[in-house]
Amino acid sequence: METKGQNILRGATFGDKLRQRAYALTVFIAVLTLATAVTFIAFSTGGADVGSPTEDVGVKAMVFSAPVKMNSGEEIEVSKSYSATELYKNLTLGHWEAHLGLDFKAVEGTDVIAAYAGKVVSVEDHPLLGSMVTIDHGNGVATVYASLQNEKLVAVNDVVVQGQVIGKIGNTSSVESADGPHLHFEVRENGIEVNPEKYLKLDNK
Ligand SMILES: [Zn+2]
Repeated sequence: METKGQNILRGATFGDKLRQRAYALTVFIAVLTLATAVTFIAFSTGGADVGSPTEDVGVKAMVFSAPVKMNSGEEIEVSKSYSATELYKNLTLGHWEAHLGLDFKAVEGTDVIAAYAGKVVSVEDHPLLGSMVTIDHGNGVATVYASLQNEKLVAVNDVVVQGQVIGKIGNTSSVESADGPHLHFEVRENGIEVNPEKYLKLDNK
């Protein structure tokens, strides 16, 4: 009886060990599968970032031309830089303020050109910025051309190419009229004004 009992006990112990090993193996395989899956996801996500047209990639690929067509021999003149933090004295209004665009000084009637290909999404007489054109370039990026002459050279939904004349330098901005004829140029990412020099390489800079 005693021997038989020990045998049964030994048998049970052997079975338990087998079950333990099977369990350990299952856990090992599960961990290995999980690790492989995590690695695969990490790699495929990384790959998608490089290959797919995400906003950042699209933005980097956009190189704007200067939005004013100067006569040969004339250098483009930035009369006021973009500044979100440093304040400018507004000569028209007399107070200090940020300047969320670039101002290009040129004689009245100078051609203003599309900095990049896109679609005209608004042509308006803005109460502050004057005669103004907005072009959508995709990827959430738009350019704004303000203080133009009143005559409209493009209409909403016009598709424009880079360098196409879209307006003429004027002095229609009520908040910048003391600066004289100029283009007030803005770049907006999802509606927020950013420094245009992120997209624009100016020869004299
Ligand atoms: Zn301005």
